[in-house]
Amino acid sequence: MKHEFVCTVCPNSCELKAGEHDGVLSVTGNKCKRGIEFAMLEVYDPQRILTTTVKLTTGGLLPVRSQGTVKKRELWTIIRQLKSIAVELPVEIGDVVANVTAGTPVCIVAADTAHSASEPISGSAPDVKKNLK
Ligand code: SF4
Repeated sequence: MKHEFVCTVCPNSCELKAGEHDGVLSVTGNKCKRGIEFAMLEVYDPQRILTTTVKLTTGGLLPVRSQGTVKKRELWTIIRQLKSIAVELPVEIGDVVANVTAGTPVCIVAADTAHSASEPISGSAPDVKKNLK
């Protein structure tokens, strides 16, 4: 099976092609070794930063993200767990708002600051589906 993707390790954005033959992954298009490591991870164990929203106890939504990457196949498991929580105000950007488990523990942090129910949260809700591509 052939895979084509862009290496996101550095701004060079090399267009990588990866193919497996006899159990060995060959990678082309990379300008450095880090591209090979990226391709191996992307083919065998893809990971993403999860961005989504959680409910606030006062109503409304708080943008959140995972602290670090999580396995792509675990994203929906985490999102389902986050549907059952509601975060109390005030919240500062970077505060841990939940610890969930999806194979491994995942720390979810606030991606914005919210002090009161009447204070608008800046930014827009992240596109969850974009994470899953
Ligand atoms: S392959 Fe190397 S040079 Fe190219 S984007 Fe990845 S890290 Fe950067």
